[in-house]
Amino acid sequence: MKEMSCKLLVIGAGPGGYVCAIRAGQLGIDTVIVEAGKLGGTCLTVGCIPSKALIHAADEFDAIRHASIGKSAMGINAENPSIDLAKTISWKDGIVGRLTTGVANLLQKSRVKIVHGRARFRDGKTVEVETETGQQLIRAEAIVIATGSDPVELPALPFEGRVISSTEALSLKEVPKNLAVVGGGYIGLELGTAFAKLGASVTIVEATEQILPLYDADLVKPVLRRLGQLGIKVLTSAKAMGLSANGEALLVETADGRKLDIAADRILVTVGRRPRTIGSGLEELDLDRSGPYLRIDDRCRTSMRGIYAIGDVTGEPMLAHRAMAQGEMVAEIIAGKKRAWDKRCIPAICFTDPEIVSAGLSPEEAREQGYEVKIGQFPFAANGRAMTMGAEDGFVRVVARADTNLVLGVQAVGSGVSELSASFSLAIEMGARLEDIAGTIHAHPTRSEALQEAALRALGHALHI
Ligand code: FAD
Ligand code: NAD
Repeated sequence: MKEMSCKLLVIGAGPGGYVCAIRAGQLGIDTVIVEAGKLGGTCLTVGCIPSKALIHAADEFDAIRHASIGKSAMGINAENPSIDLAKTISWKDGIVGRLTTGVANLLQKSRVKIVHGRARFRDGKTVEVETETGQQLIRAEAIVIATGSDPVELPALPFEGRVISSTEALSLKEVPKNLAVVGGGYIGLELGTAFAKLGASVTIVEATEQILPLYDADLVKPVLRRLGQLGIKVLTSAKAMGLSANGEALLVETADGRKLDIAADRILVTVGRRPRTIGSGLEELDLDRSGPYLRIDDRCRTSMRGIYAIGDVTGEPMLAHRAMAQGEMVAEIIAGKKRAWDKRCIPAICFTDPEIVSAGLSPEEAREQGYEVKIGQFPFAANGRAMTMGAEDGFVRVVARADTNLVLGVQAVGSGVSELSASFSLAIEMGARLEDIAGTIHAHPTRSEALQEAALRALGHALHI
């Protein structure tokens, strides 16, 4: 068996692991990263990037198709558009290829050694890797577990045949005629909306009373309106029971006890993700857990000295930018810097139509934490730029402490609001007060003016409403 030693071993090259390794390399730490699949992990290969490529293609196609049926308010006419999904998927694969090559180059530039293969813990300092050329033993002073997550499978709907996870959905070569989506969370809504725009007849089955239960009803309302316009059927408080007797439909039980067969040539199950902790020897290490996830402290340390964990394997929020921030912090800690998790907010975005952004506390969360709050909400219907883009549904909402005007949270729903998220997080992270946002000149005409107006409105003197 080949052997090597290093100061830092990172297991998993998703956004958590590869960022940790790059930063460690920059800091002069002798670093090895092991990856069983493709560099870039879930995010780059079967998650964030592929899904956003598909969503964009679907948006473009929907806009052109809309024009072809003479419904464009702007007077645009297009004739008989069609989509070749196989070509769309190979365009998406091209983007993924460029990004994974980019990650390899960045790791090499930071002098990180890449080992391809599946890692398995032998003990808290030693890992065995099954590589194409045989077994490799790696000894390390510190180990970072960044093994990510897998889609949750429902016992009544195992992934096979027409029952698929997001991974298969992102590589379909043909648009399904009838698509049933089980789970109305992030993935179900992002992909369900995209497939409806590509021409599928979509039904979303959600177990709780509201789709996107993480967001408050005001933020979800514009999304629901749009789902209706797109002809997407939404069943809430509904349970997926399995396949129908002939195996060709999804059997659903509604809140009032009715059993429905939902015609579906594909059933996309998106009911959450579980940490990837099986098969890498983690069971034997017996690290402390928080539910199914690895328990970490504010420095991403696990219960075993020298072993850190970052990203999805450590639980919610399972977001790429959280994994990256943890990875960067852990590399600096291993390099001897004094760091701890001190972030005020991890922004979350749902790339639905319209998009939803939430940074910091919602009004309800702020009240639950004992704050008396001031809230300013500004609708895009009163924003000139939104009007010129035919994107008037939605709003920006600012939540601030009533006593000091310190901004506690900013939320928005509207077309393209994902790109406003940075200013929301920056305001919260820098401890901005309502006056700081209100006093910052926001360029005209842009949708970002809605943020300034929301802050002005919370102060009681909005100018454009
Ligand atoms: P991962 O990206 O899962 O990477 C873990 C890596 O570890 C994998 O490459 C895996 O092969 C490797 N690995 C596992 N076990 C071993 C082992 N024993 N040995 C060697 N290698 C191993 N997040 C967002 O922030 N924005 C989005 O828009 C977004 N969209 C998403 C869309 C979809 C469809 C999905 C599924 C997820 C999406 N996410 C999004 C979530 C995001 O992808 C994850 O939060 C992120 O990838 C987590 O990063 P990670 O580094 O923890 O793990
Ligand atoms: P999710 O937690 O967002 O949504 C799962 C949904 O399924 C919930 O609404 C839940 O109530 C519902 N559900 C659970 N069991 C059910 C059942 N038996 N029948 C019907 N509904 C059921 O999970 P997801 O959509 O699978 O996404 C997984 C993770 O990936 C998310 O937690 C998120 O962090 C990440 N993600 C993020 C983005 C983004 O940032 N834009 C996009 C996609 C995924």
